[in-house]
Amino acid sequence: MTSELGDRLAAVRSRIAEAAVRSGRPASAITTIVVTKFQPIELVRELRELGVRDFGENRHQEAREKAALLPDVRWHFVGQLQGKKARQVRAYASVIHSVDRLPLVQALDLPGDPVDVFLQINLTDDPERGGAAPNDAPALAEAIAAAPGLSLLGVMAVAPLGEEPRRAFSRLRGIADTVRAVSPDATAISAGMSGDFEDAIAEGATHLRIGTAITGSRPARA
Ligand SMILES: *Cc1c(COP(=O)(O)O)cnc(C)c1O
Repeated sequence: MTSELGDRLAAVRSRIAEAAVRSGRPASAITTIVVTKFQPIELVRELRELGVRDFGENRHQEAREKAALLPDVRWHFVGQLQGKKARQVRAYASVIHSVDRLPLVQALDLPGDPVDVFLQINLTDDPERGGAAPNDAPALAEAIAAAPGLSLLGVMAVAPLGEEPRRAFSRLRGIADTVRAVSPDATAISAGMSGDFEDAIAEGATHLRIGTAITGSRPARA
């Protein structure tokens, strides 16, 4: 089990390194977040022993429990976030990838060290999906940049089903440019999952969120 996990991790790392070379960037410029949602804490511990330091979770309850058991790694919150949970998520998350509306910016803007966030963009035509509309991105980026409790790293998105990921990530790159125009330090792009991380790297992704390609398939429930 451990060695299979190690083998998958090594295989993904070498694919990332090759894709980074093809995009003319050092692999060290790319952060890999291993998404461990639904996976038991034992698997997180094994990954930590294999050198992983960045973990992603998408449900507050589960994330909070895991972060309490393993506080010495970076926890990335990648799921949809309710305003009333914002304060609690902020307490354990090093990075929140799913900031997508003004009330959430306000709920997260609390005293203390600023929390690193990504502005999530909805690349689908469905307004019910998580993420801000691309046209709203610059105004939201300005609001985040003006909030002392938040530090804007860049933009985040999930490639829509039914569109070639590379095309979607290319659009994201254009949206990232509009965000950087109002917030010059927001240079990061959180994009790329198990099925499309090489396309994301080709379009400038700096933060990959990879689950099953490393962890193996997810249990149906935690
Ligand atoms: C689950 C999840 C991932 C990882 O998905 P895989 O296909 O398992 O790599 C990445 N990003 C978000 C937002 C997720 O919810």
